[in-house]
Amino acid sequence: MIIDCACKKYKFAVKAEEIGINGRVVQCGVCDQKWFQEPASTEEFKVLKDNYIKEEEEKIKKAKAQKPIKEKSDKNYVPVKYEKTIEKDYTKIFLTILVISVISLAFSFENREYIISKNPELIDFFSLLEEFVEYLKKYYSDIIDVLTPKQN
Ligand SMILES: [Zn+2]
Repeated sequence: MIIDCACKKYKFAVKAEEIGINGRVVQCGVCDQKWFQEPASTEEFKVLKDNYIKEEEEKIKKAKAQKPIKEKSDKNYVPVKYEKTIEKDYTKIFLTILVISVISLAFSFENREYIISKNPELIDFFSLLEEFVEYLKKYYSDIIDVLTPKQN
């Protein structure tokens, strides 16, 4: 709303909400005069308020329309980088554990007679492991059998 200064020399553009429904005392920024500013008429106030609400809604709409683009670009960039480093670390740890397990398993298998003599309760485990090794041998010899005729 436009309000006139009490000095009648200046006009000011003020938001109707700032004056409020009940009016308020205002001061001219130029001549320092104070006066009680009557509120805008109810109808005028309503229109101004509606305009204000529309402006705020448009601001929110614009902010919402802009935010997803920013969030998407952030999400596309940061987490991918984050996951990759984590994945690499776990792969290394997993491979290290796997290699150590295989080596220690192979080592204990080679020395199974000694280990069984010290720990008889492990005989079931090693007989199972022996079965598995036999199966592997058979499996790979089958593959070798398939491959060898080509070489002959
Ligand atoms: Zn004034």
